[in-house]
Amino acid sequence: MKCPKCNTENKPDAKVCKKCGNPLVVEPLWKPSLVWHLKVLGIIYVCLIAIFFLLNWLLKPYMRKLPKEITPWLYKNEK
Ligand SMILES: [Zn+2]
Repeated sequence: MKCPKCNTENKPDAKVCKKCGNPLVVEPLWKPSLVWHLKVLGIIYVCLIAIFFLLNWLLKPYMRKLPKEITPWLYKNEK
């Protein structure tokens, strides 16, 4: 690995340059915080729940066409 500052060749696993001490490990420009993670996970969960309910609502008429024996919960109130 070459030092970006002085162009000295260093070991690939070197963390700092042996000549000028310049850090060779590139720090990530952006580290997501815990709040960010919770926010994104929350958005993903809300989307999944919304999709679930949407699909449930969309597929309900088709579920009625299934035989009574495999969807008994749809006929609970029809006695
Ligand atoms: Zn260097």
